[in-house]
Amino acid sequence: MKSGWVDSEAQAAIDRYAGEGIGRDLALRVYTTRLLGRDPKLVLHGGGNTSVKTTMADLLGEQVAVLCVKGSGSDMATIEPADLPAVRLDRLRKLRARAALSDEDMVRIQRDGLLEPAAPNPSVETLLHAFLPHKFVDHTHANAILSIVDQPDGEALCAELYDGRASVVPYVMPGFGLAKTAADIYDCEPAVEGLILHKHGIFTFGDSAREAYERMIALVTLAEQRLQKNRKAVFVTAQLPQAIAPLAAVAPILRGACSRKDERIEGAWHRMILDFRTSPAILNFVNGGELVRYSQPGVVTPDHTIRTKNWPLVTAAPERERTDDFKRATRAAVTAFVQRYEEYFARQNARTGGIKRPLDPLPRVALVPGLGLFGLGRSKKDARIAADLAQCATEIITDAEAIGRFESISEAEMFDMEYWSLEQAKLGRAAEKPLAGQVTVITGAGGTIGVATAKAFAAAGAEVALLELDERAAADSAKAIGGAAVAVQCDVTSARSVSDAFAQVVAAFGGVDIVVSNAGAAWQGRIGEVDEEVLRKSFEVNFYGHQRVAQAAVKIMLAQGTGGCLLFNVSKQAVNPGPNFGPYGLPKAATLFLVRQYAVDYGVDGIRANAVNADRIRSGLLTDAFIAERAKARGVSEKDYLSGNLLGREVTADDVAQAFLHQALELKTTGDVTTVDGGNIAAALR
Ligand SMILES: [Zn+2]
Repeated sequence: MKSGWVDSEAQAAIDRYAGEGIGRDLALRVYTTRLLGRDPKLVLHGGGNTSVKTTMADLLGEQVAVLCVKGSGSDMATIEPADLPAVRLDRLRKLRARAALSDEDMVRIQRDGLLEPAAPNPSVETLLHAFLPHKFVDHTHANAILSIVDQPDGEALCAELYDGRASVVPYVMPGFGLAKTAADIYDCEPAVEGLILHKHGIFTFGDSAREAYERMIALVTLAEQRLQKNRKAVFVTAQLPQAIAPLAAVAPILRGACSRKDERIEGAWHRMILDFRTSPAILNFVNGGELVRYSQPGVVTPDHTIRTKNWPLVTAAPERERTDDFKRATRAAVTAFVQRYEEYFARQNARTGGIKRPLDPLPRVALVPGLGLFGLGRSKKDARIAADLAQCATEIITDAEAIGRFESISEAEMFDMEYWSLEQAKLGRAAEKPLAGQVTVITGAGGTIGVATAKAFAAAGAEVALLELDERAAADSAKAIGGAAVAVQCDVTSARSVSDAFAQVVAAFGGVDIVVSNAGAAWQGRIGEVDEEVLRKSFEVNFYGHQRVAQAAVKIMLAQGTGGCLLFNVSKQAVNPGPNFGPYGLPKAATLFLVRQYAVDYGVDGIRANAVNADRIRSGLLTDAFIAERAKARGVSEKDYLSGNLLGREVTADDVAQAFLHQALELKTTGDVTTVDGGNIAAALR
């Protein structure tokens, strides 16, 4: 591992922040924190923190000695000075004299010492930084260090490796206890460059930002070199089926098995989003004959537990053509996982006074032999974090097993961490949105109604996949939505294209829950004279397009076994034909019955099918020129054409989007048609 320090960049950071009134100490603290944060072998998702001791003016303008320490929840790779809140140092240091300090008091005292009252909470490891005497203190959960300390004889291995350069601190849960223990151990050998925290990570320190940072690089490099010595070959591969089922078949089964019925609302499910990873290294790990032994001891560093839970789910290898067997086996594996988790909770909760409330018992990581690993979460972001940490854990455990045997902290220690209020606080307590955990596919997503619908579903918490014939338009829509929205090219007139597009959605999110089948195109012609080819073209898009999309979605929904929702943009032409508009209205009329057929055939599977009959929405389909033409056909002005309804109001794409959203949320409604046309008695259904 090489130092990333560059003198000119350090100076540039000092100059840049000087312009904002930030001093040299904090500028360099930001610079090396980012150097650490950008290397995933050192730091992942908030796992690590840094500090600097300096002086600053308080709100009264008086200079005080402070510790600027990383705030809870910030990312080291992109840290800014405001993410390193300043805490009065003397107040923190006084705490070392205490024999004990509750977590609640620790948090309150730390907040009480903040120079800026609105600053984020200082890190849970703040006191450890404060109790050490050095100006700069760096802390990471470096992979190479963890591979060495996560061993039964990890402490002895470190003592040998770091002879005199770093002291070893036995495992103590983060917080006041660890801060005191580490400081006491440091005091016995004050010449060391760092502290190795057994089963947790590493601290280095120094008088300058560069010294603390480069000591981190040096001590981690020693660990990396140690891992290259006396390695045994890992892992011996298990007997796997000849042909493994593809991701598109496996993910919905796994996703369904990891979903739970919502006990409070009939027909509602608590679902997960999946993030898939595979690589030769991951396959080497998940294909190992002893996977169950080395994947189950626990987390590689304690703070992973809130993201990954203590153990991953291990499934059977999914054999192609035998996915029913895989489904049965996976459901059994999840049931066993949940039971194990509930027993663990009951056992540990009893030990600690029975006051904790159980978290949901579902896995956050799944290892699938032959295929790879999945991170699971209530959002794509959470699933991605779980997958990042799981991938990191496979690397750490592989190296640990290559030089010895992987060992984690004890079950009681994991419980104390998982149910530590300060760790749970990191996850935030924002109320979940109504469509959290649900994947929505929208076709014709580049158009006006498609974009409005995608925005409405994303705002309701759904993950959205935007399918569109024009790849650029899909990408533009995804950008407009932001977040984890994915764009997929899809031609609904091609069965192959539709099935490829759904495979891409499954690869991105793990499955599909809601489909808004919206792609359409308009053709005109007097029905007695229209060319048959025109009629067939329109049927390809406006009927078969919906059928192909619904069929692809139903296949995935049945594999998941958690119901689903099919929504169709039908148009009022289906019930109230306009003159010369037969080529458009006829397939739409067939699609209206398609909706009812899906409602009839799949109600038993909890799959609902509903439609929106919208009329006269300004869009790519109903362009200004087209509006002029239709107005003429009806013999009215353009304005009267657009607002010629009972309410006298123009109907917009947002109105249509809201109707789709309501249908998605109406869990007891199927076979329904909602009109969004401002009121048109001639088009009313009866
Ligand atoms: Zn830590």
